[in-house]
Amino acid sequence: MVNASPTVGVLALQGDVREHLAALTAAGVAAVPVRRASELAAVDGLVLPGGESTTMSKLLEIFELLEPLRERLADGLPAYGSCAGMILLAGEVLDGRPDQRQLGGLDVVVRRNAFGRQVDSFETDLDFTGIGSVRAVFIRAPWVEKVGSDVEVLAAVPEEAAQASGRIVAVRQGNVLATSFHPELTGDGRVHALFADVVRAA
Ligand code: GLN
Repeated sequence: MVNASPTVGVLALQGDVREHLAALTAAGVAAVPVRRASELAAVDGLVLPGGESTTMSKLLEIFELLEPLRERLADGLPAYGSCAGMILLAGEVLDGRPDQRQLGGLDVVVRRNAFGRQVDSFETDLDFTGIGSVRAVFIRAPWVEKVGSDVEVLAAVPEEAAQASGRIVAVRQGNVLATSFHPELTGDGRVHALFADVVRAA
């Protein structure tokens, strides 16, 4: 059944929470920060923001959200991870910290900080399946090195880009979306609108 007015949470332990809340509101859903298990239990979908995946991993444990979130994802909670959020959702991380924990939900192998360090952050235009041309901002971003058979590749760095051409930077597996880049920072609401549609249809 379609839920016309879903509530979408943004994991609010660290990272660019406010930008995601604004983008979700613009996409026409009720957007709420999530810091506790009771708040997690009340949402129809969840955004995992950009920030620092190792810090968020630690805070997920401290706030006792790691297991509840793993369970909800295993039950099919729609989720969208940008950058650090993509890392958290990935089944496997290369160049992660040994104590960094994974939520699962996305059958991919990601490489953390793959594009280089902060100075190597860059922007490019991408062709995003179902959306079209999207301006992508990468900040110490991961890329996807390997996808499972149920994972659809939605965007890769174009051949013309100076760096990392051909690298996979947006994926979808069922109701889980992830991007290496930050659509919440460019004022382009189309990726959040796509996620809002996924949540409504779930
Ligand atoms: N490098 C960060 C990490 O490992 C991700 C950067 C970002 O979210 N902009 O979590």
